[in-house]
Amino acid sequence: MSQPAYLRRKHAIVTGGGRGIGAAIATELARLGADLTLMGRNRAKLEDHKEKLVKEFGVKILVVECDVSDGDTVTQAFSAASEQLGPVHVLVNNAGQASPAPFAEMPRNLWDRMLAVNLTGTSLCAQQVLPAMMAAKSGRIINIASTAGLKGYSHMTAYCAAKHGVIGLTRALALETAKLGITVNAVCPGYADTDMTKSAIDNLITAMGKTQAEARQMILRIIPRGSLIQPSEVASLVGWLCSPDAAAVTGQAIAVAGGEVL
Ligand code: NDP
Repeated sequence: MSQPAYLRRKHAIVTGGGRGIGAAIATELARLGADLTLMGRNRAKLEDHKEKLVKEFGVKILVVECDVSDGDTVTQAFSAASEQLGPVHVLVNNAGQASPAPFAEMPRNLWDRMLAVNLTGTSLCAQQVLPAMMAAKSGRIINIASTAGLKGYSHMTAYCAAKHGVIGLTRALALETAKLGITVNAVCPGYADTDMTKSAIDNLITAMGKTQAEARQMILRIIPRGSLIQPSEVASLVGWLCSPDAAAVTGQAIAVAGGEVL
């Protein structure tokens, strides 16, 4: 059976595309035929993933270093991306960080960083691609939020506030673009099998004196299906949201969380 290739010759940007969920999304979009710009701070990781994708799918891939929380860097990175691979059809705002702290002791710089990377970064990147999408009367913006955008988690106030903000941004922008052939959606993973969850497990070990196995069990008990979300499970939803079949789906916050949020 032939591959679906509805993204062939379309340019997709994935922030944080070198590892974890972002790398899986990049793989899925390359499988669907997209030319890709992979953005992130760690060039070596991005280059490694690029090499793998070029070999496997033969698509064009550009790597651009970019800290999504820095407005000037974002402007330069998106200009370089559209100069080299053309107008952007798909933006996946995946770059994110999650740091815990008891609220009463939370340092101001932790709050600022959570908001800057997860929420302001999403806004800055979306602003970069919107004019070209409006001109083309087509486009897909997919924000990787979190179940932390749909519910609270103790000791995660800043991250939860930022991810709830991402969902608010998604809903408002979806309305603003609904007549323009552009869809804007949030995908909300639960605990996923990536470095971020490894850090969450390490934090439980340090903060609560748990063993590795106990800390892992604590997280697995939160997920009704009893296993971590695989990055590929998030990526396949992102791929579908980019398809013509998903043209009527906009302003949604869709959980990929094994039943954690109902
Ligand atoms: P990882 O920690 O494995 O990866 C984070 C990614 O974000 C990396 O590619 C990193 O790239 C990039 N990144 C972080 N900060 C910046 C920055 N300032 N500028 C540019 N890129 C940045 O996390 P996941 O893959 O698990 O997370 C991906 C997304 O999914 C995040 O938005 C996260 O909040 C969300 N999510 C994750 C869940 C989980 O359990 N893992 C659950 C729910 C949501 P680099 O280091 O190269 O900068």
